[in-house]
Amino acid sequence: MDNMIPQANPGAGYRARKAEIDAAVARALDSGWYILGQEGRAFEAEFAAWLGTARAVSCGNGTDALQLALRGLGIGAGSAVATVSHTAVATVAAIEMAGATPVLLDIDPATYTLDPAEVEAVLAHPPAGLPPIRAVIAVHLYGQAADLDAIAPLCARYGAVLIEDCAQAHGAALHGRRLGMLGEIACFSFYPTKNLGALGDGGMVATANPALADEVAALRQYGWREHYVSDMVGINSRLDELQAAVLRARLPHLEADNDRRIAIAAAYDAALAGGPLAPPARRPDARHVFHQYVVRVPDRAACQAALRAQGIGSGIHYPVPVHLQPAYRGRVTLGPARCRATEAAAREVLSLPMYPELTDAEVARIATALGTLR
Ligand SMILES: *Cc1c(COP(=O)(O)O)cnc(C)c1O
Repeated sequence: MDNMIPQANPGAGYRARKAEIDAAVARALDSGWYILGQEGRAFEAEFAAWLGTARAVSCGNGTDALQLALRGLGIGAGSAVATVSHTAVATVAAIEMAGATPVLLDIDPATYTLDPAEVEAVLAHPPAGLPPIRAVIAVHLYGQAADLDAIAPLCARYGAVLIEDCAQAHGAALHGRRLGMLGEIACFSFYPTKNLGALGDGGMVATANPALADEVAALRQYGWREHYVSDMVGINSRLDELQAAVLRARLPHLEADNDRRIAIAAAYDAALAGGPLAPPARRPDARHVFHQYVVRVPDRAACQAALRAQGIGSGIHYPVPVHLQPAYRGRVTLGPARCRATEAAAREVLSLPMYPELTDAEVARIATALGTLR
Protein backbone atom coordinates (compact mmCIF):
# COMPACT_ATOMS: atom_id res chain seq x y z
CA MET A 1 0.00 0.00 0.00
CA ASP A 2 1.56 3.31 -1.02
CA ASN A 3 0.10 5.45 1.76
CA MET A 4 1.24 3.01 4.44
CA ILE A 5 1.69 4.60 7.89
CA PRO A 6 4.93 3.18 9.37
CA GLN A 7 5.25 2.30 13.06
CA ALA A 8 8.23 4.68 13.42
CA ASN A 9 9.43 7.35 11.01
CA PRO A 10 12.83 8.96 11.65
CA GLY A 11 12.81 10.44 8.12
CA ALA A 12 9.67 12.45 8.97
CA GLY A 13 11.46 13.63 12.12
CA TYR A 14 14.33 14.95 10.01
CA ARG A 15 12.08 16.62 7.43
CA ALA A 16 10.03 18.36 10.14
CA ARG A 17 13.16 20.25 11.26
CA LYS A 18 15.25 20.06 8.11
CA ALA A 19 16.35 23.71 8.01
CA GLU A 20 17.54 23.76 11.63
CA ILE A 21 19.25 20.37 11.38
CA ASP A 22 20.94 21.18 8.07
CA ALA A 23 22.25 24.45 9.53
CA ALA A 24 23.58 22.62 12.59
CA VAL A 25 25.30 19.99 10.43
CA ALA A 26 26.84 22.69 8.20
CA ARG A 27 28.14 24.49 11.29
CA ALA A 28 29.77 21.29 12.57
CA LEU A 29 31.27 20.50 9.15
CA ASP A 30 32.66 24.02 8.75
CA SER A 31 34.25 23.96 12.19
CA GLY A 32 36.96 21.59 11.01
CA TRP A 33 36.79 19.63 14.31
CA TYR A 34 34.82 16.37 14.27
CA ILE A 35 35.26 14.47 17.55
CA LEU A 36 34.94 15.80 21.14
CA GLY A 37 34.86 19.51 20.37
CA GLN A 38 32.69 22.57 20.84
CA GLU A 39 29.38 20.96 19.78
CA GLY A 40 29.80 17.96 22.06
CA ARG A 41 30.76 20.09 25.05
CA ALA A 42 27.85 22.46 24.44
CA PHE A 43 25.40 19.56 24.07
CA GLU A 44 26.62 17.95 27.30
CA ALA A 45 26.10 21.24 29.16
CA GLU A 46 22.68 21.86 27.59
CA PHE A 47 21.54 18.29 28.27
CA ALA A 48 22.67 18.43 31.93
CA ALA A 49 20.87 21.76 32.39
CA TRP A 50 17.72 20.41 30.72
CA LEU A 51 17.74 17.30 32.91
CA GLY A 52 18.54 19.27 36.04
CA THR A 53 21.62 17.30 37.01
CA ALA A 54 25.26 18.28 37.51
CA ARG A 55 27.03 16.41 34.76
CA ALA A 56 26.33 14.71 31.43
CA VAL A 57 29.03 12.78 29.55
CA SER A 58 28.30 11.87 25.94
CA CYS A 59 29.37 8.62 24.30
CA GLY A 60 28.88 6.52 21.18
CA ASN A 61 25.51 4.87 21.91
CA GLY A 62 23.12 3.85 24.68
CA THR A 63 24.67 0.40 25.14
CA ASP A 64 28.06 1.99 25.80
CA ALA A 65 26.41 4.49 28.16
CA LEU A 66 25.28 1.54 30.31
CA GLN A 67 28.65 -0.20 30.04
CA LEU A 68 30.50 3.01 30.95
CA ALA A 69 28.18 3.68 33.91
CA LEU A 70 28.87 0.19 35.29
CA ARG A 71 32.62 0.46 34.73
CA GLY A 72 32.67 3.95 36.24
CA LEU A 73 31.03 2.49 39.35
CA GLY A 74 33.69 -0.22 39.49
CA ILE A 75 31.17 -2.95 38.69
CA GLY A 76 32.58 -5.74 36.54
CA ALA A 77 33.91 -9.27 37.01
CA GLY A 78 32.89 -10.64 40.40
CA SER A 79 29.67 -8.61 40.54
CA ALA A 80 26.12 -9.35 39.47
CA VAL A 81 23.67 -6.77 38.10
CA ALA A 82 19.90 -7.21 38.26
CA THR A 83 17.61 -5.99 35.50
CA VAL A 84 14.65 -7.11 33.40
CA SER A 85 14.46 -9.60 30.54
CA HIS A 86 11.67 -7.56 28.87
CA THR A 87 13.98 -4.88 27.41
CA ALA A 88 16.21 -4.11 24.46
CA VAL A 89 18.93 -6.76 24.49
CA ALA A 90 21.33 -3.80 24.85
CA THR A 91 20.61 -3.54 28.59
CA VAL A 92 21.84 -7.07 29.20
CA ALA A 93 24.65 -6.92 26.62
CA ALA A 94 26.07 -3.88 28.45
CA ILE A 95 26.23 -5.80 31.75
CA GLU A 96 28.30 -8.53 30.13
CA MET A 97 30.44 -5.99 28.23
CA ALA A 98 31.39 -4.55 31.65
CA GLY A 99 32.37 -8.08 32.74
CA ALA A 100 29.51 -8.49 35.23
CA THR A 101 26.90 -11.25 35.49
CA PRO A 102 23.26 -10.41 34.69
CA VAL A 103 20.34 -11.68 36.76
CA LEU A 104 17.07 -11.18 34.91
CA LEU A 105 13.90 -10.38 36.83
CA ASP A 106 10.23 -10.40 35.95
CA ILE A 107 8.03 -7.39 35.20
CA ASP A 108 4.83 -5.98 36.60
CA PRO A 109 2.44 -6.97 33.77
CA ALA A 110 0.47 -3.69 33.93
CA THR A 111 3.40 -1.32 33.35
CA TYR A 112 5.92 -3.76 31.78
CA THR A 113 8.58 -2.47 34.19
CA LEU A 114 10.75 -4.16 36.84
CA ASP A 115 8.68 -5.89 39.55
CA PRO A 116 9.85 -4.59 42.97
CA ALA A 117 8.89 -7.91 44.60
CA GLU A 118 11.48 -9.61 42.41
CA VAL A 119 14.12 -7.02 43.33
CA GLU A 120 13.45 -7.59 47.02
CA ALA A 121 13.52 -11.37 46.60
CA VAL A 122 16.94 -11.51 44.89
CA LEU A 123 18.53 -8.83 47.09
CA ALA A 124 17.28 -10.48 50.31
CA HIS A 125 18.02 -14.04 49.12
CA PRO A 126 20.67 -13.93 46.36
CA PRO A 127 20.46 -16.92 44.00
CA ALA A 128 23.07 -19.60 44.74
CA GLY A 129 26.29 -19.38 42.77
CA LEU A 130 25.74 -15.76 41.78
CA PRO A 131 28.33 -13.08 42.68
CA PRO A 132 27.04 -10.27 44.93
CA ILE A 133 24.37 -8.10 43.27
CA ARG A 134 25.98 -4.65 43.26
CA ALA A 135 23.60 -2.77 40.98
CA VAL A 136 20.01 -2.74 39.74
CA ILE A 137 19.26 -1.32 36.28
CA ALA A 138 15.67 -0.04 36.21
CA VAL A 139 14.47 0.28 32.61
CA HIS A 140 11.84 2.98 32.07
CA LEU A 141 10.27 1.00 29.27
CA TYR A 142 8.08 2.51 26.53
CA GLY A 143 8.52 5.99 28.06
CA GLN A 144 7.09 5.19 31.50
CA ALA A 145 8.82 5.22 34.89
CA ALA A 146 9.70 1.96 36.58
CA ASP A 147 8.42 1.73 40.18
CA LEU A 148 11.31 3.67 41.73
CA ASP A 149 9.22 4.51 44.82
CA ALA A 150 9.57 0.85 45.77
CA ILE A 151 12.88 0.00 44.05
CA ALA A 152 15.07 2.90 45.26
CA PRO A 153 14.57 2.13 48.99
CA LEU A 154 15.31 -1.56 48.33
CA CYS A 155 18.58 -0.64 46.60
CA ALA A 156 19.50 1.62 49.51
CA ARG A 157 18.64 -1.05 52.09
CA TYR A 158 20.70 -3.78 50.42
CA GLY A 159 23.60 -1.60 49.20
CA ALA A 160 22.98 -1.95 45.46
CA VAL A 161 23.51 1.03 43.16
CA LEU A 162 20.41 2.17 41.25
CA ILE A 163 21.08 2.80 37.54
CA GLU A 164 18.31 4.21 35.34
CA ASP A 165 18.06 3.02 31.73
CA CYS A 166 16.40 6.11 30.22
CA ALA A 167 16.91 5.08 26.58
CA GLN A 168 13.12 5.22 26.01
CA ALA A 169 12.26 7.93 28.53
CA HIS A 170 13.77 11.32 27.60
CA GLY A 171 11.56 13.89 29.35
CA ALA A 172 9.48 11.39 31.33
CA ALA A 173 8.96 12.15 35.02
CA LEU A 174 7.81 10.70 38.34
CA HIS A 175 6.27 12.97 41.01
CA GLY A 176 7.32 15.95 38.91
CA ARG A 177 10.99 14.92 38.79
CA ARG A 178 12.65 13.99 35.50
CA LEU A 179 13.70 10.39 35.08
CA GLY A 180 17.47 10.27 34.98
CA MET A 181 18.04 12.06 38.26
CA LEU A 182 16.38 9.57 40.59
CA GLY A 183 19.19 7.01 40.77
CA GLU A 184 22.98 7.27 41.14
CA ILE A 185 23.53 7.44 37.38
CA ALA A 186 21.37 7.39 34.24
CA CYS A 187 21.94 6.26 30.67
CA PHE A 188 20.34 7.61 27.51
CA SER A 189 20.40 6.50 23.86
CA PHE A 190 19.98 8.83 20.89
CA TYR A 191 19.27 6.09 18.35
CA PRO A 192 17.25 7.78 15.55
CA THR A 193 13.81 6.51 16.65
CA LYS A 194 14.16 7.44 20.36
CA ASN A 195 12.19 10.41 21.72
CA LEU A 196 15.40 12.45 21.34
CA GLY A 197 17.14 10.94 18.32
CA ALA A 198 20.32 11.65 16.38
CA LEU A 199 20.83 10.87 12.68
CA GLY A 200 23.16 8.06 13.64
CA ASP A 201 24.28 6.60 16.97
CA GLY A 202 24.73 8.49 20.21
CA GLY A 203 24.48 8.06 23.97
CA MET A 204 24.75 9.96 27.26
CA VAL A 205 25.56 9.19 30.88
CA ALA A 206 24.15 11.64 33.45
CA THR A 207 24.95 11.88 37.14
CA ALA A 208 24.98 14.37 40.00
CA ASN A 209 28.27 12.83 41.19
CA PRO A 210 31.18 14.77 39.60
CA ALA A 211 33.84 12.19 40.49
CA LEU A 212 31.78 9.48 38.78
CA ALA A 213 31.28 11.72 35.72
CA ASP A 214 35.06 12.28 35.51
CA GLU A 215 35.62 8.53 35.69
CA VAL A 216 33.13 7.90 32.86
CA ALA A 217 34.67 10.71 30.76
CA ALA A 218 38.09 9.06 31.07
CA LEU A 219 36.76 5.57 30.39
CA ARG A 220 35.04 6.62 27.15
CA GLN A 221 38.42 7.56 25.63
CA TYR A 222 41.12 4.97 26.39
CA GLY A 223 41.13 5.80 30.12
CA TRP A 224 42.68 9.21 29.44
CA ARG A 225 42.44 11.94 32.07
CA GLU A 226 44.99 13.86 30.00
CA HIS A 227 45.83 13.22 26.37
CA TYR A 228 47.87 10.11 25.61
CA VAL A 229 48.04 8.99 29.28
CA SER A 230 45.88 5.95 30.02
CA ASP A 231 45.28 6.01 33.78
CA MET A 232 43.03 3.00 33.46
CA VAL A 233 41.93 0.64 30.73
CA GLY A 234 39.16 2.41 28.85
CA ILE A 235 37.27 1.98 25.61
CA ASN A 236 36.64 4.24 22.64
CA SER A 237 33.05 5.47 22.66
CA ARG A 238 32.67 9.10 21.63
CA LEU A 239 29.76 11.18 20.32
CA ASP A 240 30.82 12.87 17.09
CA GLU A 241 30.35 16.58 16.47
CA LEU A 242 27.77 16.10 13.70
CA GLN A 243 25.47 14.10 15.97
CA ALA A 244 26.03 16.54 18.86
CA ALA A 245 25.03 19.43 16.57
CA VAL A 246 21.89 17.59 15.41
CA LEU A 247 20.94 16.80 19.02
CA ARG A 248 21.47 20.45 20.06
CA ALA A 249 19.03 21.46 17.32
CA ARG A 250 16.47 18.93 18.55
CA LEU A 251 16.66 19.22 22.34
CA PRO A 252 14.65 22.49 22.48
CA HIS A 253 11.75 20.69 20.69
CA LEU A 254 11.70 17.60 22.90
CA GLU A 255 8.95 18.76 25.27
CA ALA A 256 6.63 19.73 22.41
CA ASP A 257 7.40 16.43 20.64
CA ASN A 258 6.58 14.51 23.83
CA ASP A 259 3.33 16.51 24.23
CA ARG A 260 2.38 15.45 20.70
CA ARG A 261 3.09 11.79 21.53
CA ILE A 262 0.89 12.12 24.64
CA ALA A 263 -1.93 13.67 22.58
CA ILE A 264 -1.71 10.82 20.04
CA ALA A 265 -1.84 8.32 22.93
CA ALA A 266 -5.00 10.01 24.24
CA ALA A 267 -6.62 9.67 20.80
CA TYR A 268 -5.75 5.94 20.73
CA ASP A 269 -7.14 5.55 24.28
CA ALA A 270 -10.43 7.12 23.18
CA ALA A 271 -10.62 4.78 20.18
CA LEU A 272 -10.13 1.72 22.41
CA ALA A 273 -12.64 2.83 25.08
CA GLY A 274 -15.47 0.35 25.50
CA GLY A 275 -13.77 -2.21 23.25
CA PRO A 276 -12.05 -5.47 24.18
CA LEU A 277 -8.50 -4.08 24.24
CA ALA A 278 -7.24 -2.15 27.26
CA PRO A 279 -5.25 1.04 26.71
CA PRO A 280 -1.78 1.03 28.29
CA ALA A 281 -1.73 1.57 32.08
CA ARG A 282 -0.32 4.86 33.36
CA ARG A 283 1.57 5.07 36.61
CA PRO A 284 -0.14 7.73 38.78
CA ASP A 285 1.59 11.12 39.22
CA ALA A 286 3.98 10.37 36.37
CA ARG A 287 4.64 11.75 32.88
CA HIS A 288 4.57 8.85 30.40
CA VAL A 289 6.22 10.09 27.18
CA PHE A 290 5.04 7.22 24.96
CA HIS A 291 8.20 6.12 23.25
CA GLN A 292 5.85 3.28 22.35
CA TYR A 293 2.07 2.91 22.63
CA VAL A 294 1.63 -0.78 23.42
CA VAL A 295 -1.55 -2.86 23.55
CA ARG A 296 -1.93 -6.57 24.30
CA VAL A 297 -3.67 -8.72 21.76
CA PRO A 298 -4.30 -12.45 22.11
CA ASP A 299 -4.07 -13.03 18.35
CA ARG A 300 -1.22 -10.75 17.40
CA ALA A 301 -0.59 -12.07 13.92
CA ALA A 302 -4.24 -11.49 12.97
CA CYS A 303 -4.18 -7.96 14.41
CA GLN A 304 -1.00 -7.07 12.55
CA ALA A 305 -2.49 -8.41 9.33
CA ALA A 306 -5.75 -6.48 9.87
CA LEU A 307 -3.79 -3.26 10.46
CA ARG A 308 -1.54 -3.90 7.47
CA ALA A 309 -4.59 -4.40 5.26
CA GLN A 310 -5.67 -0.89 6.28
CA GLY A 311 -2.23 0.57 5.54
CA ILE A 312 -1.06 0.74 9.15
CA GLY A 313 2.30 -0.55 10.32
CA SER A 314 2.92 -2.01 13.78
CA GLY A 315 5.88 -3.37 15.70
CA ILE A 316 6.73 -5.78 18.51
CA HIS A 317 8.86 -4.62 21.44
CA TYR A 318 10.06 -7.26 22.11
CA PRO A 319 9.08 -10.59 20.53
CA VAL A 320 11.68 -12.70 22.38
CA PRO A 321 12.73 -11.92 25.98
CA VAL A 322 16.49 -11.71 26.47
CA HIS A 323 16.66 -14.94 28.51
CA LEU A 324 15.12 -16.87 25.59
CA GLN A 325 17.43 -15.42 22.91
CA PRO A 326 19.86 -17.98 21.46
CA ALA A 327 22.91 -16.14 22.87
CA TYR A 328 21.56 -16.09 26.45
CA ARG A 329 19.19 -19.04 26.71
CA GLY A 330 20.07 -21.56 29.39
CA ARG A 331 22.96 -19.59 30.84
CA VAL A 332 21.45 -16.54 32.55
CA THR A 333 20.13 -16.58 36.10
CA LEU A 334 16.45 -15.67 36.50
CA GLY A 335 14.50 -14.27 39.46
CA PRO A 336 12.06 -16.42 41.47
CA ALA A 337 9.08 -15.65 39.19
CA ARG A 338 11.05 -17.26 36.32
CA CYS A 339 10.04 -14.37 34.03
CA ARG A 340 6.56 -15.80 33.52
CA ALA A 341 4.90 -12.36 33.15
CA THR A 342 7.69 -11.41 30.74
CA GLU A 343 7.11 -14.45 28.54
CA ALA A 344 3.34 -13.85 28.51
CA ALA A 345 3.82 -10.20 27.54
CA ALA A 346 6.29 -11.08 24.77
CA ARG A 347 3.60 -13.22 23.11
CA GLU A 348 0.97 -10.46 23.07
CA VAL A 349 2.48 -6.97 22.96
CA LEU A 350 1.86 -4.86 19.88
CA SER A 351 3.26 -1.35 19.30
CA LEU A 352 1.11 1.04 17.26
CA PRO A 353 2.48 3.86 15.09
CA MET A 354 3.96 6.50 17.39
CA TYR A 355 6.00 9.53 16.35
CA PRO A 356 5.29 13.26 16.70
CA GLU A 357 4.96 13.87 12.94
CA LEU A 358 1.85 11.68 12.57
CA THR A 359 -0.83 13.98 11.14
CA ASP A 360 -4.28 14.34 12.70
CA ALA A 361 -5.73 12.61 9.63
CA GLU A 362 -3.35 9.67 10.09
CA VAL A 363 -4.17 9.46 13.80
CA ALA A 364 -7.89 9.43 12.92
CA ARG A 365 -7.29 6.63 10.37
CA ILE A 366 -5.41 4.59 12.99
CA ALA A 367 -8.11 5.27 15.60
CA THR A 368 -10.80 3.95 13.26
CA ALA A 369 -8.77 0.79 12.65
CA LEU A 370 -8.19 0.32 16.39
CA GLY A 371 -11.94 0.20 16.96
CA THR A 372 -12.05 -2.99 14.88
CA LEU A 373 -9.25 -4.86 16.69
CA ARG A 374 -9.84 -7.63 19.18
C1 LIG B 1 17.75 1.68 22.57
C2 LIG B 1 17.94 1.10 23.94
C3 LIG B 1 19.22 0.85 24.47
C4 LIG B 1 20.49 0.90 23.66
O1 LIG B 1 20.75 2.03 22.98
P1 LIG B 1 21.67 1.98 21.65
O2 LIG B 1 21.92 3.44 21.43
O3 LIG B 1 20.87 1.33 20.58
O4 LIG B 1 22.92 1.27 21.98
C5 LIG B 1 19.31 0.42 25.78
N1 LIG B 1 18.21 0.22 26.53
C6 LIG B 1 16.97 0.41 26.04
C7 LIG B 1 15.79 0.18 26.93
C8 LIG B 1 16.79 0.84 24.72
O5 LIG B 1 15.55 1.02 24.25
